Amino acid sequence: MFKLFISGLLLPISIFIIGCQSKAKTGAANLVTSSIATNLKPQVTVATASYPDTAAGNNKKAEVANAATIMVKKQVPILCYHQIRNWRPRDSKRAKDYIVPENAFKAQLKMLADSGYQTILPDQLLAYLETGAPLPPKPIILTFDDTDLDQFTVAAPEMEKYGFKGVFFVMTVSLGRPRYMSRAQVKALSDAGHVIGSHTWDHQNVKKLSPADWAIQIDKPTKQLEAITGKPIHYFAYPFGLWKTEVIPELQKRGFRAAFQLSTKRDSENPLFTVRRIIASGYWQPKTLHRSMINSFD
Ligand SMILES: [Zn+2]
Repeated sequence: MFKLFISGLLLPISIFIIGCQSKAKTGAANLVTSSIATNLKPQVTVATASYPDTAAGNNKKAEVANAATIMVKKQVPILCYHQIRNWRPRDSKRAKDYIVPENAFKAQLKMLADSGYQTILPDQLLAYLETGAPLPPKPIILTFDDTDLDQFTVAAPEMEKYGFKGVFFVMTVSLGRPRYMSRAQVKALSDAGHVIGSHTWDHQNVKKLSPADWAIQIDKPTKQLEAITGKPIHYFAYPFGLWKTEVIPELQKRGFRAAFQLSTKRDSENPLFTVRRIIASGYWQPKTLHRSMINSFD
């Protein structure tokens, strides 16, 4: 009964909580877009010109940067998607932030490609943040949460057109269920060069996990995803984007290298375990997305 309750409410809860966090930013981005559209190109050039190793310096590239050094580095824009499908009459206004219509998604990817963005993967992000390894001039990370089937059937083929690779954060409870990806599909994404990450077993708020819960929510899903992909699982996305400092050592001792939240402030002591992302809204035109990327990542 409890499981049914959880899975039935998973998306609405996710939409509600995450929506509260991102609504202000979404509105702000929409407001500014019309007024600054004509100035977009020059600003984009400045904002994405380079990813220099600003704080570590050229002589220290072999060293792993500390948290303070990582915090002052230019952030790579990271987008978070959920469902990629056309809106239905019963979709709520709030849900549409998390449901990107197919043509809107295609237009967003085309804008990224036309603007010169190149996808990078978390290993590259860490190498850049920790050792100053160079990145492409306009790096971006595309992430997909919650195991929705359309990520495999719609998003992945569209990404393929541009040579884009992404990160798919899987909640293992949903594997093989209707409208979710199967194990074989997750493996196919991994085999194609995408990264598979963990999003817990059934989308629990990690702030509320008891010690006994960690085996179910973190350890078993990691083992399952490693068995499916044949690769170690190093990356984690917090359900609802929610985290607290106390959970970070738990992830670290389980071998995770980084964890992704949504758009709240990073933990200055643990920037790699509070990596920021923005929800790419279903309402956004490509230029709105572009504007929001520039506004949201220092
Ligand atoms: Zn989620």
